[in-house]
Amino acid sequence: MKVTLQTLGSGTSQGVPAIGCHCDTCRSEDPRDQRLRPSVLISANDSNILIDTSSDFRSQMLRFGITHIDAVLYTHHHFDHIGGFDDLRQYNFLQKTAMKLYGMEETLEEIRVTFRYAFGAAKQTGGGLPSAQLHPVRGEQAFDVAGISVMPVPVLHGVLPILGYRIGNLAYITDTNEVPASSMQLLEGLDILVLDALRHHAHPTHFSLNEAIDTARKIGAKKTYFTHIAHNIMHQRDSVLLPPDMEFSYDGMLVTSPLETA
Ligand SMILES: [Zn+2]
Ligand SMILES: [Zn+2]
Ligand SMILES: [Zn+2]
Repeated sequence: MKVTLQTLGSGTSQGVPAIGCHCDTCRSEDPRDQRLRPSVLISANDSNILIDTSSDFRSQMLRFGITHIDAVLYTHHHFDHIGGFDDLRQYNFLQKTAMKLYGMEETLEEIRVTFRYAFGAAKQTGGGLPSAQLHPVRGEQAFDVAGISVMPVPVLHGVLPILGYRIGNLAYITDTNEVPASSMQLLEGLDILVLDALRHHAHPTHFSLNEAIDTARKIGAKKTYFTHIAHNIMHQRDSVLLPPDMEFSYDGMLVTSPLETA
């Protein structure tokens, strides 16, 4: 199966540039240093699967011309990953159906609480509200979305258990500082891995760049792309620190598995 991943946002929770910051990255004119909040679109067999509805969802859909979404897979409930939920209603309107949302039961419950106006008996009809069908999933139990098999990969984000996702030989794992041994097995034989690498120095809930490089080496994908990047990392300047099979993601980046060989 040919699987394509487009990075819609490669930035950390406050985005890059950060409001009011005058550091080198935030003033950089390199478009790869301008990072929207974290989200990717995965396309396979003519289906479009979105991972997370970021706080920059609307801008991302407009910028990348995404007019159809078959389903959304949620990694976890932090606001940078769910903030765009309300704008799914435009896809309800375009597709004339509720949007299918997949995530851990705990994640879906947090979405229900955060956007409680959109759920429950008091829901008004006649537009203005997003309409969603919630599908709880569990780690290590593959499920089908729009005819595509998806494997949820449990990881730890500090003390919070969250999910990465593997589709074919491509996996997206954001917001983590620990990939448990049982999940390492789910990541064998990858062509492409997208992995959290927040910044140079340590963080209690995200991989630093060196930790991400070590973990990527253990997972051993043919190509690894780092994401959820803070302004502490500058694309061109810091790319020299990366092994040849690893790169920083950037907004708009497209990668395809199986890898296209020149
Ligand atoms: Zn995040
Ligand atoms: Zn900055
Ligand atoms: Zn998070």
